[in-house]
Amino acid sequence: MRLDKLLANTGFGSRKDVKALLKKKQVTLNGNVIKDSSAHVDPDTDLIKVNNTTVTYQKNIYIMMNKPPGYISSTEDVWDKTVIELLTSDLQLFKPFPVGRLDKDTEGLLLITNDGDLAHQLVSPKKKVGKTYYAKVNGEVIDKDVDYFKQGVMLRDGYKTKPADLKVLRTGEVSEIEITITEGKYHQVKRMFEAVGKKVVYLKRIRMGELLLDDSLPVGSYRELTQPELDFCL
Ligand code: URA
Repeated sequence: MRLDKLLANTGFGSRKDVKALLKKKQVTLNGNVIKDSSAHVDPDTDLIKVNNTTVTYQKNIYIMMNKPPGYISSTEDVWDKTVIELLTSDLQLFKPFPVGRLDKDTEGLLLITNDGDLAHQLVSPKKKVGKTYYAKVNGEVIDKDVDYFKQGVMLRDGYKTKPADLKVLRTGEVSEIEITITEGKYHQVKRMFEAVGKKVVYLKRIRMGELLLDDSLPVGSYRELTQPELDFCL
């Protein structure tokens, strides 16, 4: 990557500030003073120092996990296993965290990254990123529920949700549905069904914005995002 980008990303100010540092001969690359801000460097192998202090470059990582039930979506927990513990120790060194929360018993698409800006883009209610879930629900889900969800559901605590898109895949004693919401309130999908007298018995996130859960990822496994997937998110 470009030297000015690397230094700007590691807290040495704007590219203009970085240029000034280089001009003042305060930066060395593998022991030699460097003045060219457009020089290409490899953060893994090149030794870069500013005023004799080594620059450590924190690479961003982006992981898609098919979250298994039984794990907490946080970086640490006193009682339960966290999704971070499923990652190799090499990946844990990058200090990744899950983007948004899935309940302990919820499965499916979880993005894990150390890129705070991206996480904010995906979870901020202002950005209205759709999150789609597949669920099994005890009880018959009917057209009236679809209409009600479209208007926003009044939860038991008095909060009215933003409109949600509910699709009934199969209705019966146990119904199968897909729901898209743009918020991330605590237990939101479960509480929306509770408000219409039904119980979610299985919940799996299958989509966040344009990012789809890779069907070929077994529950509990993960992989890095591909470049096109990352482009969807950024
Ligand atoms: N809604 C829920 O009720 N639980 C989740 O894990 C995600 C959305």
